[in-house]
This record gives sequence, C-alpha cells and structure tokens, in this order.
Amino acid sequence: MTETLRHFIGGEFTGSAREFGKYSPVTGEPVCQVYEAGESEVDDAVTAARAALRGPWGRTSELERAGMLRRIAEEIERRFEDLVAAEVADTGKPVAQARTLDVPRGAANFRAFADIVSAAPAELFRTATPGGGRALNYAVRKPVGVVAVIVPWNLPFLLLTWKVAPALACGDVVVVKPSEETPSSAALLAEIMAAAGLPPGVFNLVHGFGPDSAGEYLVRHPGVDAITFTGESATGRTIGRAAADGVKAVSFELGGKNAAIVFAEADLGAAVAGTVRSSFSNGGQVCLCTERVYVQRPVFEEFTERLATRAGELAFGWPAQPGLTTMPLISRAHRDKVLGYYRLARDEGAAVHTGGDCPVFGDARDGGAYVQPTVLTGLTEHSRTNREEIFGPVCHVAPFDDEDEAYALANDSQYGLAAAVWTRDVGTAHRAGAALDVGLVWVNTWFLRDLRSPFGGMKSSGIGREGGTYSLHFYSETTNVCVDLG
Ligand code: NAD
Repeated sequence: MTETLRHFIGGEFTGSAREFGKYSPVTGEPVCQVYEAGESEVDDAVTAARAALRGPWGRTSELERAGMLRRIAEEIERRFEDLVAAEVADTGKPVAQARTLDVPRGAANFRAFADIVSAAPAELFRTATPGGGRALNYAVRKPVGVVAVIVPWNLPFLLLTWKVAPALACGDVVVVKPSEETPSSAALLAEIMAAAGLPPGVFNLVHGFGPDSAGEYLVRHPGVDAITFTGESATGRTIGRAAADGVKAVSFELGGKNAAIVFAEADLGAAVAGTVRSSFSNGGQVCLCTERVYVQRPVFEEFTERLATRAGELAFGWPAQPGLTTMPLISRAHRDKVLGYYRLARDEGAAVHTGGDCPVFGDARDGGAYVQPTVLTGLTEHSRTNREEIFGPVCHVAPFDDEDEAYALANDSQYGLAAAVWTRDVGTAHRAGAALDVGLVWVNTWFLRDLRSPFGGMKSSGIGREGGTYSLHFYSETTNVCVDLG
C-alpha cells in the first residue's frame, strides 16, 4: 500500500476524518487508502469552486480556455505512464488497453473540446422593429457555473475527462466525485491540473461513496448549478430527485441492455469478431456492451457456435501480459452480482454454450474478481436475464425471422443506449438507424467514436446528449441580447 489519496480543494490537497480502502480486482490485495469527504469537505469544494468562478477564470475567453485545455492534454501525455499504472491498479484492465484507449482518450477529450469551443458558431438575427427599423439579436454564451461531475468505475479516466474537458471549455468550475472503486487516475488529474497552471478552485476533487457520502452531499448542495452524471439508471433516478429540489440542470448517461442484430447476409466472420468485442471488451463492463444478440434464423446455429468458441478462447492473464483479451470485474461484490445472473439464467432455463462460472488459476488471481465470458441461448424475452443490465462478459443469443421482428425485439427494453447492426445491405443499414430507439447505432462496427458527434441514450439510458456542440449547450447558459439599431 503506497499512500492515502487526498481531496483537491481550492488548489490544495487535503485529508478528512474518514478513510476507506481500495482493493485490487486482480488479487483482492489492498491498492491504496482513500480519504472520504464528509459534508464539510464537499461544502469547502463547492465554495472554492464558486470563488474561482467569480475570479479571473470566469472572465477568460474561449481561445484562452482552449489554450489551457491543450496544456492539460500535454500534461496528461507527460504523466502517461503514471496514468496507465493508476488505471491498471484500480481496474485490473490490460496495460495494453490503458495505453491504447483509456489514457490517450483522456488527452484527446481535452484537445477535441479545445477545437470545438474555438470553432463554436455564434447566433445572430436581424429583426424588424415596429417602427420600421432594425434590431440585432445575438446570444452570449456564459458558464453554467459550478458543475458536479459524478462518474463510474468502468472507464474511469476516459469518462471523467469526457465531462471535465467540455465543462472547462465553457468556463465552468467543477467539483469531481470519482467512483470509490477508481480514485487513482482522478487524483493524478488533480496534479495535472495544477501542473498545467489551472487557477485554484477551478478543478476540485472529493473522494467518497454515493449515499450518505460525498456523492449525495454534492448533488444536494445548493451551491451546485448543474449535475453531469454517468452511472446506473437507478442512481440517476435518485440524483434526479435531488436535482429537482434545486432546479439543477442534469445530463445523465445511464445504463444499457444493448442489442446486436446480425442479418443472414452479413459478413459472418466480421459479425462474430465484432460481437466478441462488443460483448466482452473491458470484461463486458462498458455501458455500450452488447448483452442481447438477435441473429437471423438461417445463420443462428453457426453464429452461436462460432461466438461461443471465440468467447471460450479469450485469454486471461496478468494485466502486463501482452495479448490479453479479457480482464477481471471491478470487485468481488460485482463478481458476485454477475455470478448471481449466471445462476439466474440457468434457473430461467438457459443453455450455457460457454462459461457460466469463475476461472480457477491456482495463484493469487483466485483472490481477484474474475468470471468466465459466457454465451447463453434459450431464454424468453421476458426473463430477467434478458431484461436487466448485468454489466459483465455475457450475452444471450436468440433467432429472428425478418427485419421488423428484429427491430421490435431490440426495442422491447426499458433501455435505449446503443445497438450494433451487422449487414451488407445498404438499405437495411439506413433503415436500422431510423427504426432503433437508441441514441447510438453502429453498422458493421462498434465503439467507433467521433468526439464531435452526439452521445447519449433514450428511455432509462439517459437524459440529454453530450459530445461536440451538444456538450457546449449543456455546460453553458445563454443570454439573448436584443439591440434596437434605430
Ligand atoms: P453507480 O450508479 O453505482 O455509481 C456511479 C457514481 O455515482 C459513483 O461515483 C458513485 O459513488 C456515485 N453515486 C452512487 N449513488 C449516488 C447517490 N445517491 N448520489 C450521488 N452519487 C452517487 O454506477 P457504477 O456501478 O459505478 O457504474 C456502472 C453503471 O454505469 C452501469 O449501469 C453502466 O451502464 C453505467 N454507465 C453508463 C455510461 C453511459 O455513457 N451511458 C457509461 C459508463 C457507465
């Protein structure tokens, strides 16, 4: 165990009365101790943020802030190896993945929003006045104020920077609450902010849990103007109630029960490989992961067999090993939840084509949080396994006959985050985009993101969109100015 991770409030690292332990998903051994913020630390953080908003930061131009975002990106690159080590220690993910996805995306988020805010268009309308003259209407974009940023553990640095970057681009001040499971890269981001020269109080960090802890105190705090949250739909409902009391703006990126649709005419090899990625990447712990796969009947048997074979071959190992294709779940508690769903699926009558249990290593990893990638068939659409988000390396495969049936099956969910469609037919590709009630449709790919494009979910999967100018709308207020030109 190395250190106790501290809060970062008003430009200073501080402790608090209570601490908690963070444990390795790989071995179950302690990773670090973390201070837990109480109401007074959260209040200090919000007060420091408000003071910074009133200071010079609140009067910076878009181009000045874009320059700051680029310096932050450079600092992220300077601390690259530290960030990789932090992400791997907290999540157990392969080092290669942290190097190629999580940490580079953090830098990319700051660069993308530096560009987006620099190029953001201004609105200007010439309006006729009753006296026959002209008036000018234009909207002034202003910071929304103190933004609470609450994020989960599955892609900690990627998701945190995805929200902090546009908030800073818009001139906001933030109080960040990372997941209790992944405090380490957020702590490094505080050091990065200081090294980049961000004024004290613009970026504040409080560690802790949700209920009766830092998360709840933050969303209830009257000094918070807006809440951006990524996490479970149930947590979103709780935070939404707290936000309603204070009439705070919310942006919610919530859970999913995402479908993949494989048409008989698709490139089956690509569809199998793509579904292996979409169902099992990051241990199945991505909100965008596929948990329901619908396959057109002529290729259903072959697809299921090939998918199960590939899933059974996914390589477990130690995070630093090259060629790893899977990883542990975040904690023993989450492992027990996923194993509970494996048992439930059997009780509901599923056929288990591969997986369904824990791997046994005969070494320290047996103290970790590993489960086997699992492929199921044979369940009804009404089974709990097919309706509830599991958030592990598991999918259920079911047959369909025609296109309309596929869309109806995919849409029959309380969630509406993402879908993957595998087809060679250009008409089907475009019809799917229109027919599926989700925020994101990928055709013949998965997880390919352009940071300028909208991101978010329908139904229980979220409120609002972030990405590109959509983020600028959420993280800004506008004042319309109408000037009579005489
Ligand atoms: P979670 O909802 O349990 O926790 C998320 C964050 O909220 C954590 O920081 C937690 O401490 C905090 N929190 C919990 N209760 C709170 C409360 N009452 N008040 C304030 N804060 C509270 O989610 P998780 O288990 O960390 O993450 C997994 C979930 O996140 C999955 O449902 C997944 O689908 C979802 N997710 C969604 C997206 C998306 O973009 N839609 C992206 C990633 C993850």
